[in-house]
Amino acid sequence: MAKEPKAPRPPALTIVDHPLVQHKLSLMRMKSTSTSAFRNLLSELSLLLAYEVTRDMPMHKVTIDTPLTRTTVPVLDGKKIVVISIMRAGAGILDGMLRLLPSARVGHVGLYRDPKTLVAVEYYFKVPKVMTDRDAIVVDPMLATGNSAIAAVRRLKTRGCRSLKYVCLVAAPEGVAAFGAAYPDVPIFTAAIDRKLDEHGYIVPGLGDAGDRLFGTK
Ligand code: URA
Repeated sequence: MAKEPKAPRPPALTIVDHPLVQHKLSLMRMKSTSTSAFRNLLSELSLLLAYEVTRDMPMHKVTIDTPLTRTTVPVLDGKKIVVISIMRAGAGILDGMLRLLPSARVGHVGLYRDPKTLVAVEYYFKVPKVMTDRDAIVVDPMLATGNSAIAAVRRLKTRGCRSLKYVCLVAAPEGVAAFGAAYPDVPIFTAAIDRKLDEHGYIVPGLGDAGDRLFGTK
């Protein structure tokens, strides 16, 4: 039996194995799951992933008055976050992320996969004017070949973000390996690493085409 590729685990790989995340992802994988259920599940999962990806947000102490006494409490430093959606399926992650990070800015990177070469071709790029003081969270449900993720991060690096993180739902070992080799400094957060890519660049077992399932276009 042919050996399936194993992803080398970059130190910056987080698999979010919380039972709620795993359960919701299992529902999303089922082909019987409707478009509206898929959309809702993705939104809920995105919120849970946002919770995990922001775990290291810096905080400081402030003094406040509770109804009973004066005390010091931790609050967020007010980091300047920008969520970058890789179109089109990344749009499904925005809503959940923004519920937890309501003042985050949003950028869009439009990339399509050349069906023959699977190479990512950029057709749209719009991010906040000044990125140098921003922490970017790049989102796309599927990390398949890694080509789109690498192309998006390559482009964002030219804009000089303060930090970059990559969030997906399902990753292929091949995508994790390629992305980790290209950008070992960019941590990946995912709910699952699946078995492999098929000959069309789909993740197996995966959940199908995330964009089609999200928008009901198939
Ligand atoms: N993009 C998808 O939407 N699904 C895959 O399985 C791979 C890439």
